[in-house]
This record gives sequence, structure tokens and C-alpha cells, in this order.
Amino acid sequence: MKILVINAGSSSLKYQLYDMTDETVLASGRVERIGMDSSILVHEPHHAEEISEVSEILEHTTAIRKVLDKLTDAQVGVVKSIDEIEAVGHRVVHGGETFKSSVLVDSDVKAEIRRLFDLAPLHNPACMMGIKAAESNMPNVPQAVVFDTAFHQTMPAKAYMYAIPKVLYKKHKIRRYGFHGTSHDYVSKRTADLLERPLEQLKIVTCHIGNGGSLTAIEGGKSVDTTMGMTPLEGLMMGTRSGDLDPAIVPFTMNKEDLTVNEVNSMLNKHSGLLAISGMSSDMREITEGYLAGEPNATLAFEMYEYRIRKYIGAYVAAMNGADAIVFTAGVGENSAELRQMICEKLTYLGVEIDLEVNKVRSKQPRRISTPNSKIEVLVIPTNEELMIARDTYRLAK
Ligand code: AMP
Repeated sequence: MKILVINAGSSSLKYQLYDMTDETVLASGRVERIGMDSSILVHEPHHAEEISEVSEILEHTTAIRKVLDKLTDAQVGVVKSIDEIEAVGHRVVHGGETFKSSVLVDSDVKAEIRRLFDLAPLHNPACMMGIKAAESNMPNVPQAVVFDTAFHQTMPAKAYMYAIPKVLYKKHKIRRYGFHGTSHDYVSKRTADLLERPLEQLKIVTCHIGNGGSLTAIEGGKSVDTTMGMTPLEGLMMGTRSGDLDPAIVPFTMNKEDLTVNEVNSMLNKHSGLLAISGMSSDMREITEGYLAGEPNATLAFEMYEYRIRKYIGAYVAAMNGADAIVFTAGVGENSAELRQMICEKLTYLGVEIDLEVNKVRSKQPRRISTPNSKIEVLVIPTNEELMIARDTYRLAK
């Protein structure tokens, strides 16, 4: 069975076509600048060079049609006809409390995702555009939705409730949901495979550190706590997001700076984090260069970023009364040997010991970076959210 995985944003769309007989990627690519001048489609078939094409793509339906044209193209295509694609899987950011696992799309599911727009106003409408666009291009093909929040629905109330009037939970569903669930789920399962131990017996702290970042405490394969909250703003310091702060700062700043709700939201989501502290970039590669060169602002940004991750690792080891493994994944977690070293060198109180040379090796393969003496295994596991979406879609569509 061939499955198309779609990750739609408001002006972009990423795709991968899987052959589920052996879980290989036949082609992948992305459309950027949808609805703007000079939209770009980048298509990478497994058997040929990447190609890119600039054209005017005004909305998602056209974007998916162009993707399907490429997938069936005589030169750069990987299937003879669209009919070979038997199911489509969509990444949806917010599934609220309704969706505890992936589901096939029907009118009730779409209505519920729409109802959840309030909780993820930037993300869920874009996901919905992707679903509708796929439906109109492939009307008879089953569509599945896989939620970033679903994996965290196992959290106990003590972890997901905020200590504010309960009426706000009842009326508006204000609680911790957590995100990156597909990634945390994937790397925890890979950890059990690599350690050759049953997932049910493991306590794992998974660190998904990319442009956005979250840590999750996973006990017996179930999320028991996670750093992101009702929205992806809470927790770690991120590329452009503040992460945790004293909530009183919000009304105080709005008052002092005469900011509107939208302005303060934008400040915390788009103008904070690494970007604000370094004053130069939200990209960890540039921050690391600045830090290694001794540039003071980049150094402060790097140190704050690392410190918060390390504090949460300690918190989650405490939450689970121990840990068998700490796992690094996503753009920064997989690639930044400097950050991993700095974190692990200050976890010696937990008996963590990493091999500094192994830590430095660049690889796309999952690997152990802890020494045999380490009391907690430390692993680097490249995440693969698309494969998880393809697997869930396959299971549901079969
Ligand atoms: P993601 O959101 O998972 O795609 O991760 C994107 C982030 O990974 C960007 O902020 C990059 O700066 C970061 N990244 C990629 N390569 C490296 C690297 N070699 N060192 C540090 N950060 C990196």
C-alpha cells in the first residue's frame, strides 16, 4: 500500500510518499510560499536528483494537485497513476481532549478539528486546509489524521491541570496538552528496540529539541508529563518562543508597553527565545558559532537554552523516580554535540557519563553516546514523525 503523508502549514506543505510494503520513502518534497508571489515546489524522488519549480500557487488545493502531478510525472514521478495512492495521512497539531489516537477523517472528525481552532489558531486551520485540499484532489481515498497532542493524553490530572480556577478548565478546556507527541512516541519506541528491553519496563526522558522544543517523561511507553502546555509556548526556551515565564509578566508588559493581546502573543511566540537573547538569530548553528567565539549575547542565549533543558531533565527524573534513558532528537538534539556535552557533563549526580568522542561523531543513525559505566543510557535517535503518520494511516486504512 502506498501512503501519502502531508504536513500542511498556513503557507507551506511538506509531503512524503511511502511504500508500506517495506516502509521506504518513494519521494518527498515541499511547497513553500503558498498564496504569495513565486511559490516554490521542491520534489525529491528516490531515484533521481531533487528538482525545484517556481510558479504561482494560490492555495493548498493547487499545491496538492501540483504535488500529485510530480508524483505521477513520466520523468520525476514514482507512481504511474494517482490511483496507486491508497491513503493519505495528515499531521494535525491539536486534537484537544477528544482525540487520544489517530482516526480516519469523516464529517464529525472535521467538525471537531474545526471546534479546536480556538486552541491552536495558527496551526489547526492550516491542517484543515491540507485535509480539504487532499479530499478535493483524491475524493475516494481514505484520509487519516494524526495528532501532535494524542500521545500525551495519558498524562495524569496532576500533570495536566493548571492551578487556576477550575471553571476555566470546564468552560474553555484550559489544561496542558503537550505537543511533538508523534516524535516522543517514535523515539521512545526506538529506544526500547535499541536497548533490547520492553518499553513497558522503561522510564525515558525524551528531549525533542528543534526550532520548537519539548521534553517528555515517558513511563512504560506512556507520556506522564511534558513541557509544552495548552499551546506550544510553555516549557523550554526555543528559537523564537520564550518558554516558561512568570505569568504576571504578560499583564505587566501589556500595561507598561501598551500592547494588545495579539502583540503580546506575537512577542512571546515570534520575538523571544534565542532570537531575543542573542539579538542575532533563532538558529542554533549561529548561536553555537557565537558561543564558541565567546560572543557575550550568543553565550548567554546558549547557556540559558542549555540550563532550562537540564533543569527539566532533572525534574522528569524526579517525576518518574529515576530514568533508564535520556534521548536527544530533532534538529538541535540530533546535531549539536556541544549542547549534548554541556547538558550531560552536569548530570553526573545522576551517574550520567557520555563518551565525548562518540558524542562528536556525526551520523544519521540512532546511537548510544553514554559509556558502559553510565547509570542512565544516553541516546541520539533521529526522529521520524512522517513514518509514524504513515504507519498509523496504514493501520487505519487497511
Ligand atoms: P527542527 O525544528 O527539528 O527542524 O530543527 C531545526 C533547528 O535545528 C534549527 O534551529 C537549526 O539551527 C538546528 N540545527 C541543525 N543543525 C544543527 C547543528 N549542527 N548544530 C546546532 N543546531 C543545529
